[in-house]
Amino acid sequence: MIDYHLHVVAHDDRPMTVENILEYCGVAKSRGIKQLGITEHDRYLDKIDIGAFVEARDKSKDVALRLGIEIDYVSGNEEEMFNISGELPYDYVIGSVHRVDKREVDRATDQSIYEEYETYELYEAYFRNVRESALSGMFEVIGHPDLIKIFRHAPDEDITPMLEETADAIAESGVVVDVNSAGLRKPIGEIYPSRRFLEMFFERDVPIILSSDAHAANEVGAGYEESIQLVKSVGYREVATFKDRDRIESLSL
Ligand SMILES: [Zn+2]
Ligand SMILES: [Zn+2]
Repeated sequence: MIDYHLHVVAHDDRPMTVENILEYCGVAKSRGIKQLGITEHDRYLDKIDIGAFVEARDKSKDVALRLGIEIDYVSGNEEEMFNISGELPYDYVIGSVHRVDKREVDRATDQSIYEEYETYELYEAYFRNVRESALSGMFEVIGHPDLIKIFRHAPDEDITPMLEETADAIAESGVVVDVNSAGLRKPIGEIYPSRRFLEMFFERDVPIILSSDAHAANEVGAGYEESIQLVKSVGYREVATFKDRDRIESLSL
């Protein structure tokens, strides 16, 4: 098993030291996770201690470490995002949409965007950004592809067409989808992506990774019973892995 989207520095909560990384590895081992990918938010790029990462990777015997990064996809920022994606020797780069019109959609303390925008239009703008991020060619993985549902502000209209269109774009672009259990810890109480969205990916042969989006060591592998049950019931039998920006062997679930 893998956990390929998680944060050690998180929101500048702790330094990236060998000890802190190995604490995450210890939790991973205890939960049967064999590969851990550290993917800090790009705005904390300067907090990534590559020396500590390499030392921890050498020291960690039971859990293989990978280095990724989670880039906050903002249309118009292509040059900056491209530069960040080449800054360090990442094994893979996650593109995640957190914003519509540069405003965050997942900030618990400021949900005003959901009042100011018509919900259906907000969803359309969100998924348009997800399609753009996939088709940009800058990322190997698309993070939590339906994050917009986080606070349960759902449109009354049927969103199936926009999900289908987004699944088509993701399939066409060849990126991998992040099946991310953090949604279980949010008001929506549901994995990203939803079952029906995941079914669309499966029908289109889109590979997946699994992740907890942990922001603390005890969240590594959190919610995995539910994630594994979900992906298996949809039909998935394996998860993708990466090294040096290449997709390498898949691991059985
Ligand atoms: Zn994210
Ligand atoms: Zn994250």
